[in-house]
Amino acid sequence: MKHYRVGIIGATGMVGQRFATLLENHPWFEVTALAASARSAGRTYQEVVSSRWAMKTPIPAAMADMVLFDATADIDKIGELVDFVFCAVDMPKDEIKKLEEAYARREIPVVSNNSAHRGTPDVPMIVPEINADHTDVIPAQRQRLGTKRGFIAVKSNCSLQSYVPALHPLREAYGLEAALACTYQAISGAGKTFETMPEIVDNVIPFIGGEEEKSEQEPMKIWGHVENGQIVNATDVSITAQCFRVPVSDGHTAAVFARFTRKPQLEDIKKIWAEFKGPAQELNLPSAPKQFLHYFEEDNRPQARLDRELEGGMAVSLGRLRPDSQYDIKFVCLSHNTLRGAAGGAVLLAELLAAKGFMD
Ligand code: NAP
Repeated sequence: MKHYRVGIIGATGMVGQRFATLLENHPWFEVTALAASARSAGRTYQEVVSSRWAMKTPIPAAMADMVLFDATADIDKIGELVDFVFCAVDMPKDEIKKLEEAYARREIPVVSNNSAHRGTPDVPMIVPEINADHTDVIPAQRQRLGTKRGFIAVKSNCSLQSYVPALHPLREAYGLEAALACTYQAISGAGKTFETMPEIVDNVIPFIGGEEEKSEQEPMKIWGHVENGQIVNATDVSITAQCFRVPVSDGHTAAVFARFTRKPQLEDIKKIWAEFKGPAQELNLPSAPKQFLHYFEEDNRPQARLDRELEGGMAVSLGRLRPDSQYDIKFVCLSHNTLRGAAGGAVLLAELLAAKGFMD
């Protein structure tokens, strides 16, 4: 069986806490180092997070007494303890870029939830069911960084984690021309709870900084192709998005409209969704959902509270597929933003990288 020692950089944050709970009993990965800012370093994980623990399960016992490292100052110490790290930190973008490259240059692979490197052409941004072949740019990235095993791989933004998987097999079958997505995003996506974001109660906030740009642009990289050690973005489709923050703890919903070159039949679309699988399922990765896309026939589904935990929060829930008068179709989709959309998606990506030998 595979066994890798892993570190969590940003372990005290919302995504970091998710990593801790997901990795507690992971069959391949064992957490051997936790790091956060200098403010938290030197204290135990339990001391720092107990007052802001946001998970439904307790702080993992094996991590509670681990002493937190300083993510920047202690890279060498962390490097001695781990085979690779997960990274989810709240820092200025240029500092995150430097931090992630510093780990990679010390031969510590980085699987990142941060957006800083999503636009870097030789850093793959992977949804394992869709573009697992983008790992092909890693040798070129290693060459640029001057490393033998160090590299950075990122996961995409949580907002698109429901609609890009739903549109992907339809794009292949019918030629996707244009899509419009309105997202209704949970407060955990901002690292918040109802206690720390009281202004969201009885409210909808029609702006999330930078989110609409990511929702429109990141799918082009996911649908891009590898050429000369870089990812060349797709140009044959256009996406427009509006992103709202809504009073939901977990689970991003999206209302989607799509137009295709070849006109699809609704029953064929449901069959394509039901049959869709990718390398995550074919390689039987430990965190992969058995059925990635679930279609609900009920008119009032998917719902965040009822459906976000489907297949451990790693599946996408779909519903309300119908014809549209301006586009060809419209539908609703839902994905758990801190599971598939953040830590869970990164764990699945790390499993893919491990299965392909990039962590050895
Ligand atoms: P968060 O709850 O605010 O946590 C931030 C983490 O970053 C904490 O561990 C914090 O450590 C650490 N940190 C802050 N400044 C640091 C510094 N100078 N050096 C080292 N560590 C530092 O944020 P989050 O929601 O977990 O998000 C973390 C990252 O993931 C962000 O880049 C975010 O955009 C991305 N992301 C979040 C989601 C989501 O659903 N929440 C989804 C996708 C991506 P201290 O406790 O010591 O301050």
